[in-house]
Amino acid sequence: MKRVLIATSNPGKLRDFAGAALSHGIEIASLPGFASLPAVAEDGLTFEDNARKKAEFYSRFAPGEIVLADDSGLEVDALGGAPGVHSARYAADEPHKAENNTDDEANNVRLVRELKAVPPEKRTGRFVCVIAAARDGKTLAVFRGKAEGIILDNPRGHNGFGYDPLFYFPQIRKTFAELTAQEKAGYSHRGAAFRQFLGWCDERS
Ligand code: IMP
Repeated sequence: MKRVLIATSNPGKLRDFAGAALSHGIEIASLPGFASLPAVAEDGLTFEDNARKKAEFYSRFAPGEIVLADDSGLEVDALGGAPGVHSARYAADEPHKAENNTDDEANNVRLVRELKAVPPEKRTGRFVCVIAAARDGKTLAVFRGKAEGIILDNPRGHNGFGYDPLFYFPQIRKTFAELTAQEKAGYSHRGAAFRQFLGWCDERS
Protein backbone atom coordinates (compact mmCIF):
# COMPACT_ATOMS: atom_id res chain seq x y z
CA MET A 1 0.00 0.00 0.00
CA LYS A 2 1.34 3.44 -0.92
CA ARG A 3 2.08 5.66 2.06
CA VAL A 4 1.95 9.45 1.95
CA LEU A 5 3.71 11.52 4.61
CA ILE A 6 2.01 14.69 5.83
CA ALA A 7 3.76 17.39 7.86
CA THR A 8 1.05 18.58 10.20
CA SER A 9 0.21 18.52 13.88
CA ASN A 10 -3.45 19.24 13.13
CA PRO A 11 -5.49 16.06 13.79
CA GLY A 12 -8.40 17.52 11.77
CA LYS A 13 -6.22 17.83 8.68
CA LEU A 14 -4.85 14.31 9.14
CA ARG A 15 -8.39 12.94 9.41
CA ASP A 16 -9.38 14.82 6.25
CA PHE A 17 -6.40 13.43 4.34
CA ALA A 18 -7.14 9.93 5.57
CA GLY A 19 -10.77 10.37 4.43
CA ALA A 20 -9.58 11.51 0.99
CA ALA A 21 -7.06 8.67 0.69
CA LEU A 22 -9.38 5.87 1.78
CA SER A 23 -11.02 5.18 -1.57
CA HIS A 24 -7.63 5.19 -3.32
CA GLY A 25 -6.08 2.49 -1.10
CA ILE A 26 -3.49 4.94 0.23
CA GLU A 27 -2.25 5.18 3.80
CA ILE A 28 -1.75 8.63 5.32
CA ALA A 29 0.96 9.00 7.95
CA SER A 30 2.19 11.92 9.96
CA LEU A 31 5.84 12.73 9.36
CA PRO A 32 7.75 10.51 11.87
CA GLY A 33 8.69 12.46 14.98
CA PHE A 34 6.75 15.52 13.82
CA ALA A 35 5.77 16.55 17.35
CA SER A 36 9.40 17.02 18.36
CA LEU A 37 10.39 19.06 15.29
CA PRO A 38 10.55 22.86 15.49
CA ALA A 39 7.54 24.87 14.33
CA VAL A 40 7.77 26.85 11.09
CA ALA A 41 6.71 30.52 11.27
CA GLU A 42 3.68 30.75 8.98
CA ASP A 43 4.33 34.36 8.01
CA GLY A 44 3.84 34.07 4.24
CA LEU A 45 1.43 36.39 2.44
CA THR A 46 -0.24 33.56 0.54
CA PHE A 47 -1.34 29.98 1.20
CA GLU A 48 1.24 28.84 -1.34
CA ASP A 49 4.10 30.67 0.42
CA ASN A 50 3.28 28.96 3.69
CA ALA A 51 2.65 25.52 2.18
CA ARG A 52 6.02 25.60 0.37
CA LYS A 53 7.80 26.84 3.46
CA LYS A 54 6.41 24.01 5.61
CA ALA A 55 6.94 21.26 3.01
CA GLU A 56 10.51 22.34 2.24
CA PHE A 57 11.49 22.62 5.89
CA TYR A 58 9.97 19.35 7.06
CA SER A 59 10.99 17.26 4.03
CA ARG A 60 14.61 17.63 5.20
CA PHE A 61 13.71 15.37 8.12
CA ALA A 62 12.66 12.49 5.85
CA PRO A 63 15.50 12.23 3.30
CA GLY A 64 14.47 10.96 -0.13
CA GLU A 65 10.76 10.92 0.70
CA ILE A 66 8.00 13.12 -0.71
CA VAL A 67 6.47 15.12 2.14
CA LEU A 68 3.21 17.05 1.83
CA ALA A 69 2.26 20.18 3.76
CA ASP A 70 -1.02 22.01 3.41
CA ASP A 71 -1.79 25.62 4.11
CA SER A 72 -5.43 26.42 4.11
CA GLY A 73 -8.08 28.76 5.38
CA LEU A 74 -11.40 30.46 4.94
CA GLU A 75 -11.92 33.53 2.73
CA VAL A 76 -15.11 35.46 3.45
CA ASP A 77 -16.20 37.93 0.76
CA ALA A 78 -17.95 40.35 3.14
CA LEU A 79 -14.72 40.54 5.17
CA GLY A 80 -12.48 41.32 2.20
CA GLY A 81 -11.11 37.76 2.14
CA ALA A 82 -10.41 37.53 5.91
CA PRO A 83 -9.53 35.49 7.86
CA GLY A 84 -7.56 34.02 4.89
CA VAL A 85 -3.98 33.07 5.72
CA HIS A 86 -4.67 34.07 9.33
CA SER A 87 -7.55 31.60 9.73
CA ALA A 88 -5.80 29.57 12.44
CA ARG A 89 -5.35 32.64 14.68
CA TYR A 90 -8.35 34.81 13.84
CA ALA A 91 -9.35 35.27 17.48
CA ALA A 92 -6.00 36.89 18.34
CA ASP A 93 -6.02 40.68 18.85
CA GLU A 94 -3.74 41.11 15.86
CA PRO A 95 -3.99 37.91 13.79
CA HIS A 96 -1.38 39.10 11.26
CA LYS A 97 1.17 39.50 14.06
CA ALA A 98 0.25 36.59 16.30
CA GLU A 99 2.55 33.61 16.34
CA ASN A 100 0.34 31.19 18.17
CA ASN A 101 -2.87 29.67 16.89
CA THR A 102 -6.09 30.45 18.74
CA ASP A 103 -8.62 27.73 19.40
CA ASP A 104 -11.29 26.77 16.91
CA GLU A 105 -14.17 27.81 19.13
CA ALA A 106 -12.76 31.30 19.74
CA ASN A 107 -12.11 31.71 16.00
CA ASN A 108 -15.70 30.73 15.24
CA VAL A 109 -17.05 33.16 17.83
CA ARG A 110 -15.11 35.98 16.17
CA LEU A 111 -16.33 34.99 12.71
CA VAL A 112 -19.96 35.03 13.83
CA ARG A 113 -19.41 38.41 15.51
CA GLU A 114 -17.79 39.97 12.42
CA LEU A 115 -20.68 38.82 10.23
CA LYS A 116 -23.49 39.79 12.59
CA ALA A 117 -24.83 42.61 10.42
CA VAL A 118 -24.29 40.82 7.10
CA PRO A 119 -27.46 39.48 5.41
CA PRO A 120 -27.64 35.82 4.29
CA GLU A 121 -27.16 36.53 0.57
CA LYS A 122 -23.86 38.30 1.28
CA ARG A 123 -22.36 35.62 3.53
CA THR A 124 -20.49 33.87 0.75
CA GLY A 125 -17.00 32.48 1.19
CA ARG A 126 -14.70 29.65 0.37
CA PHE A 127 -12.25 27.28 1.91
CA VAL A 128 -8.93 27.23 0.08
CA CYS A 129 -6.23 24.60 0.37
CA VAL A 130 -2.78 24.63 -1.17
CA ILE A 131 -0.71 21.47 -0.83
CA ALA A 132 3.02 21.59 -1.50
CA ALA A 133 4.91 18.36 -2.23
CA ALA A 134 8.61 18.60 -1.40
CA ARG A 135 11.60 16.30 -1.28
CA ASP A 136 14.92 17.02 0.42
CA GLY A 137 14.08 20.70 0.94
CA LYS A 138 12.80 21.44 -2.57
CA THR A 139 9.20 21.93 -3.68
CA LEU A 140 8.35 19.59 -6.58
CA ALA A 141 4.76 20.73 -7.19
CA VAL A 142 1.83 22.58 -5.64
CA PHE A 143 -1.85 21.65 -5.82
CA ARG A 144 -4.89 23.82 -5.10
CA GLY A 145 -8.47 23.15 -4.15
CA LYS A 146 -11.41 25.25 -3.06
CA ALA A 147 -14.96 24.81 -1.83
CA GLU A 148 -17.59 27.55 -2.11
CA GLY A 149 -20.14 27.95 0.67
CA ILE A 150 -22.18 30.19 2.96
CA ILE A 151 -21.19 31.19 6.48
CA LEU A 152 -23.95 30.47 9.02
CA ASP A 153 -24.58 32.42 12.20
CA ASN A 154 -25.14 29.27 14.26
CA PRO A 155 -22.90 26.20 14.24
CA ARG A 156 -24.27 22.89 12.93
CA GLY A 157 -22.73 19.43 13.35
CA HIS A 158 -19.94 17.98 15.46
CA ASN A 159 -17.53 16.43 12.95
CA GLY A 160 -14.54 18.04 11.31
CA PHE A 161 -12.55 20.92 12.78
CA GLY A 162 -11.99 24.66 12.52
CA TYR A 163 -14.79 26.56 10.81
CA ASP A 164 -16.56 23.39 9.58
CA PRO A 165 -19.70 23.87 11.78
CA LEU A 166 -20.27 27.34 10.28
CA PHE A 167 -19.51 26.39 6.68
CA TYR A 168 -22.73 25.47 4.87
CA PHE A 169 -22.34 23.70 1.54
CA PRO A 170 -25.51 24.46 -0.47
CA GLN A 171 -25.11 21.54 -2.89
CA ILE A 172 -25.88 19.05 -0.11
CA ARG A 173 -27.61 21.40 2.35
CA LYS A 174 -25.21 20.50 5.13
CA THR A 175 -22.28 22.03 6.90
CA PHE A 176 -18.91 20.32 6.59
CA ALA A 177 -19.26 19.39 10.28
CA GLU A 178 -22.28 17.24 9.40
CA LEU A 179 -20.18 14.97 7.14
CA THR A 180 -17.88 12.03 7.77
CA ALA A 181 -14.23 12.56 6.79
CA GLN A 182 -14.77 10.52 3.62
CA GLU A 183 -17.90 12.49 2.66
CA LYS A 184 -16.19 15.81 3.36
CA ALA A 185 -13.28 14.81 1.10
CA GLY A 186 -15.71 14.47 -1.80
CA TYR A 187 -16.58 18.20 -1.62
CA SER A 188 -13.76 19.88 0.24
CA HIS A 189 -10.85 22.08 -0.79
CA ARG A 190 -8.45 19.56 0.81
CA GLY A 191 -10.01 16.61 -1.01
CA ALA A 192 -9.79 18.47 -4.34
CA ALA A 193 -6.13 19.42 -3.82
CA PHE A 194 -5.27 15.88 -2.69
CA ARG A 195 -6.87 14.34 -5.80
CA GLN A 196 -4.69 16.61 -7.93
CA PHE A 197 -1.66 15.34 -6.04
CA LEU A 198 -2.74 11.75 -6.79
CA GLY A 199 -3.09 12.59 -10.50
CA TRP A 200 0.45 14.00 -10.44
CA CYS A 201 1.72 10.79 -8.77
CA ASP A 202 0.05 8.69 -11.49
CA GLU A 203 1.70 10.76 -14.23
CA ARG A 204 5.11 10.18 -12.65
CA SER A 205 4.77 6.43 -12.23
P1 IMP B 1 -3.00 26.39 8.74
O1 IMP B 1 -3.16 25.88 7.35
O2 IMP B 1 -2.39 25.39 9.65
O3 IMP B 1 -2.35 27.74 8.79
O4 IMP B 1 -4.44 26.64 9.37
C1 IMP B 1 -5.59 26.43 8.70
C2 IMP B 1 -6.76 27.00 9.49
O5 IMP B 1 -7.79 27.29 8.53
C3 IMP B 1 -7.36 26.00 10.46
O6 IMP B 1 -6.86 26.16 11.75
C4 IMP B 1 -8.84 26.32 10.38
O7 IMP B 1 -9.13 27.40 11.22
C5 IMP B 1 -9.02 26.77 8.94
N1 IMP B 1 -9.34 25.62 8.05
C6 IMP B 1 -8.59 25.13 7.04
N2 IMP B 1 -9.17 24.06 6.47
C7 IMP B 1 -10.31 23.87 7.15
C8 IMP B 1 -11.33 22.89 7.04
O8 IMP B 1 -11.29 21.95 6.24
N3 IMP B 1 -12.35 23.03 7.90
C9 IMP B 1 -12.42 24.03 8.81
N4 IMP B 1 -11.49 24.94 8.99
C10 IMP B 1 -10.43 24.87 8.15
